[in-house]
Amino acid sequence: MADFYDTGIIGGGPAGYSAALHLAQNGKKVILFEKENIGGVCLNKGCIPTKAIMHVSELYKEMKNCENLGISAAEIKLDYNKVKERKNKIIETLRKGIELALKNSKVTVIKENAQILSKTEIKAGEEIFNCREIICAEGSSPKAIPNIEFDHKFILSSDDILELETLPQSVLIIGSGAIGTEWARIFANFGVETTVIEIAPNLLPLADTEVSKRLERIFKSNKIKYFTSTGIKEIKNKQVTLTNDEVLNPEIILLATGRKPNTKTKIEGVEYIGDTAGEIQLAHYAIKQAIELSDNIPFRKDLTPSVVYGSPEIAWIGKREQDLEGSEYKKSLTLVSSLGKAHCDNQTDGFIKILAQNDKILGAHIVSKEASALIQQITIAMQNDISASKLKEVCFAHPTYSEGIFEGLFKL
Ligand SMILES: Cc1cc2nc3c(=O)[nH]c(=O)nc-3n(C[C@H](O)[C@H](O)[C@H](O)COP(=O)(O)OP(=O)(O)OC[C@H]3O[C@@H](n4cnc5c(N)ncnc54)[C@H](O)[C@@H]3O)c2cc1C
Repeated sequence: MADFYDTGIIGGGPAGYSAALHLAQNGKKVILFEKENIGGVCLNKGCIPTKAIMHVSELYKEMKNCENLGISAAEIKLDYNKVKERKNKIIETLRKGIELALKNSKVTVIKENAQILSKTEIKAGEEIFNCREIICAEGSSPKAIPNIEFDHKFILSSDDILELETLPQSVLIIGSGAIGTEWARIFANFGVETTVIEIAPNLLPLADTEVSKRLERIFKSNKIKYFTSTGIKEIKNKQVTLTNDEVLNPEIILLATGRKPNTKTKIEGVEYIGDTAGEIQLAHYAIKQAIELSDNIPFRKDLTPSVVYGSPEIAWIGKREQDLEGSEYKKSLTLVSSLGKAHCDNQTDGFIKILAQNDKILGAHIVSKEASALIQQITIAMQNDISASKLKEVCFAHPTYSEGIFEGLFKL
């Protein structure tokens, strides 16, 4: 019989490792099981690798178009192997950091596939581990759609796309959620002929409609071809026929149509957190769920910010305009091109939209460089019931993108 643990955790992604670290720091004896790599999808196949490649793609594009900035770079060459090497190094560095933190917090880490037998027992290999409580943070996997399966050669998942040896000449991306949109931007930045199809009437279907419309403009200016309200009729011999009868011959397809929880059956008395819980599938949501459990710090689930990376970034929080249809509300729209800092940075595309009702901020929708940081300001205000007039009392630095928030408050 193995040792007894306070908490047994399955899955070493953001949900699992955050719970493990916080519980151990609170004095609990914790055991964590991970069958692949510590860091989970987020670190190894998701958030971090895509943003690492995104950064290089943006730099590459900017360098190719920097003559108007007074820089003339005669020959810019891309070595995609080095791009991947750098991405792998970042993953390794961050993974070592988490592994060290787990070690320093005295979390026992078992690198094995684990199975929950009951609300107090976990089996890994031939051993059974007894725990006072069990947290399941098994994460999620790419989800295909009816009649289209991953073949991992022509029809790829977001995992497969990270393994590409070279960039393709052309790509068809099915789905314009965060993953599809980010990869469309990466490929287009690298000069790959990129087409996106979306079955919903708008790109980025979960966003505010005005944001989706702006993304259409951004796609156009980046030469990303897109079709909305469009699905796949047939894929035959690498030839794709869309439901609008358009025929495409992409070198590869990225199927980015969502993710499915890894847990097949839930066991009563076990806590399910992160992607496998089947709620909001975002790393920061997973981390907050973990901390809610470990430190008993509740959070407003309806105030989970969404961010889509690329240039310009897209971020939102709270109510969208389509949610407020039929009710009275005020809206401010501040163009990023009105901000001094945006001109200095050569990043004038986008807007900062704030929605409010009787001085209460209901939501914000931002398309701008640094949108990921800007949205946090509104999130903090909303979480703490700071009204629009109260927020006006805050001193916003100049020149910054935050001034767009400040300006917007006076239009509400
Ligand atoms: C391409 C891409 C980009 C993304 N970008 C972002 C982003 O920018 N921002 C953001 O917030 N989110 C992003 N996400 C989503 C984010 O990665 C997930 O929300 C997050 O990883 C969920 O964390 P988790 O701990 O619940 O699960 P995971 O990260 O999936 O970790 C689960 C872990 O459990 C392990 N496991 C599963 N079953 C067992 C078992 N039986 N025994 C042992 N171990 C097991 C797995 O190997 C895995 O390591 C992205 C996802 C993808 C695919």
